[in-house]
Amino acid sequence: MADLSALTLDAALTGLRNKDFSAKELAESHIATAESANASLGCFLKLTPDHALKAAAESDARLAKGEARPLEGAPLAIKDLFCTEGVETTASSKILEGFKPPYESTVTRRLFGAGAAMVGKTSLDEFAMGSSTETCAYSKTVNPWRANGSNAALTPGGSSGGSASAVAADLCLGATGTDTGGSIRQPAALTGTVGVKGTYGLCSRFGVVAFASSLDHPGPIAKTVKDAALLLGVMAGHDPNDATSLDVEIPDYAAAMGKGVKGLRIGLPKEYVSDGMPEAISDLWKTGADWLKGQGAEIVEVSLPHTKYALPCYYIIAPAEASSNLARYDGMRYGLRVDGEGLVPTYEETRAAGFGPEVQRRVMIGTYVLSAGYYDAYYLRAQKVRRKIADDFAKAFEQCDVLLTPATPSGAFALGEKTDDPVSMYLNDIFTVTANLAGVPAMSVPAGLSADGLPLGLQLIAPPLGEQTLFAAGAALEEAAGFTAKPERWW
Ligand code: GLN
Repeated sequence: MADLSALTLDAALTGLRNKDFSAKELAESHIATAESANASLGCFLKLTPDHALKAAAESDARLAKGEARPLEGAPLAIKDLFCTEGVETTASSKILEGFKPPYESTVTRRLFGAGAAMVGKTSLDEFAMGSSTETCAYSKTVNPWRANGSNAALTPGGSSGGSASAVAADLCLGATGTDTGGSIRQPAALTGTVGVKGTYGLCSRFGVVAFASSLDHPGPIAKTVKDAALLLGVMAGHDPNDATSLDVEIPDYAAAMGKGVKGLRIGLPKEYVSDGMPEAISDLWKTGADWLKGQGAEIVEVSLPHTKYALPCYYIIAPAEASSNLARYDGMRYGLRVDGEGLVPTYEETRAAGFGPEVQRRVMIGTYVLSAGYYDAYYLRAQKVRRKIADDFAKAFEQCDVLLTPATPSGAFALGEKTDDPVSMYLNDIFTVTANLAGVPAMSVPAGLSADGLPLGLQLIAPPLGEQTLFAAGAALEEAAGFTAKPERWW
C-alpha cells in the first residue's frame, strides 16, 4: 500500500469513502510516523494514539454504513492551546502543567463531531507568544525543512510551529492553529504549508486558552488550499459560548475555489514595499501578481497609510489583553502552585516559577500600558491607531477585492538566531499583524523556494467575511505556483 501519511486530506477522505483503506489503517500510519518523527522534530507535546484509534473505529463503522461525516476518519493534530476534554492542555507553559480541561473547545468539538481523529497536541510558543516556537517550556520544535547543503536546525516559525511542522512532515493530514498576530500564516509560510485565519469571530474562541482576546483567531494549517477550505468549513460556525462569535451562514469554501480570479482586482499595498526587503521576497511578490494577472485579474496599487504603526500598536494591545487574561493563573485554580508564606507570596512565586521570560515580559508591558497615568498615552492611543488601520483596509477594499503581500520578511531562520533580540523576533509579523488588528480574513500560500531551498509564502487578505474570495485567489496562486516541493526526510 502507498504511504498513507503522504496523502492530502482531500485524497484521504476520498480513499476512505472508496474503501481503498480503512480509517484504522490511516490512523495507524499517522500514529507510527508521528511517533518515530517526534524525537527529531518535537512537534507534539503529547501523542494521543488512543484518541485517534477510538475515533477511527467509529469512523470505520460509519463508513461501512455509508454515513460518513465531512471529515470522517481524518487524523489531525491539535495545537496545545485548544482545550481537549480530559487530555492535558498546557499552552506550552509550566503554569498549566497537568491541567486536564473538563470540557472541549468548540473548534475541536466541531472537528471531532465531523469525524476527525486527534493524533496529538502540538507545541507552540508559551501562551502563543512568539514567532519561532522556542518559548515553549517543554520541547524544541524543529522545521522539517533544511537549507540546501546544511544540517542546521531551523525553526518552523510560531507560535503554531508544532502544527505547521507536523503538517509539513506528513505526521497528520491537517492541524489547528491560532493566529493573534501571524501565528498561523507565518509558520505556514516557513514550512511550505497553507495557513488561514478567517474573519474575527468566524471560528469560536471558546475553550481556546486566551492570549489577546480581541486579536485571537483559530484556523487551520493544511497541505493544500482545498484541505484548508475543508477544515475551515467545519471549524467555523456560530457559538453562543463566545460572545464575539459571528452568527453567519458558513458557505462551501472548497466550492468557492473554482471561481477563479478573472475580473478580480488584486491590491498591492505600496507601504509594504521597503528598501530592506530581501530580493527573493520582492521577486516572489511580483511573480505572484503576474500569476494572478495571467489568470485575468487586474493589479492595482493601494495604500494602507498606517501600516508603519501596526507593530507598535499590536505590541501595546496584545500585551495589555494578555496581562489581563493571564491574571487567572494564580496557583489557586489551575496547574502549578508554589506555596509561599501567605497568599500574595504564593501568587508571586507561582507566577515567577510558572511563566517563562517572554510571558513575563508581556505581562509587564501589558500592566504598564494599562496603568493609571500611562493608559491614555499607550493603550487608548493604540486603540485609536487600531481604528485607523481598520479604516485603511476598508478604504483599500473600495479599490480592490483582495490584497496580495509577502507573508513573511524571510524564510525559516535558525534556532537561537533571534531569541536574544525580541524586536527582531517581533519583526517577523510585519506583514501579518495588520489583518489581526483589522479582523479581516487572511491566508498564506506556499509560492516558491528561496535560493537556499527554503519555502516562502505569499499572503492574501480579503474584506470581512470575504473568505470565498480568499479561497478563489488562494487556489489561483496555488495552481500557478505549482508548489510541490517536500522536505527531504532526514528525521
Ligand atoms: N508573534 C506574535 C506574538 O508574539 C504573534 C503570535 C500569535 O499570533 N499568537 O505575539
